[in-house]
Amino acid sequence: MYCRNCGKRLENNALVCDACGTFTSNYANTQIYPAKNYAPEDTGRTAGDNISIAAFIISLVSLIFGAILAFPIVGIILSGIGLKNTKKGSLGRPFAIAGLAISIEALAAWILAIFFVILLILLIASAV
Ligand SMILES: [Zn+2]
Repeated sequence: MYCRNCGKRLENNALVCDACGTFTSNYANTQIYPAKNYAPEDTGRTAGDNISIAAFIISLVSLIFGAILAFPIVGIILSGIGLKNTKKGSLGRPFAIAGLAISIEALAAWILAIFFVILLILLIASAV
């Protein structure tokens, strides 16, 4: 499109001419339908949702590789961030809750497993 005042070539979605400052017809449209143009776009998925889904995946990984204690701890932290940044009923919320539960369970299970291994080693050592 071209500026109707000075004739400069502009981007098709330009609101204002960057040469002379005249508003384009796009700008006029934004004034007629301000709600359409300025309402925050509701994509249904926020950064909080993405963090929650990432937390859920890390939690699942922590069930398998929980011996590396960083996994469930990262899962718990990310789930907490996810819970804080998602609203009730949003896409990520159940992932964050599930992630938190799985991470805590993974952490507890692996701590218990390590505890029993140490106990077993002590029992064997004392029997010898
Ligand atoms: Zn112009």
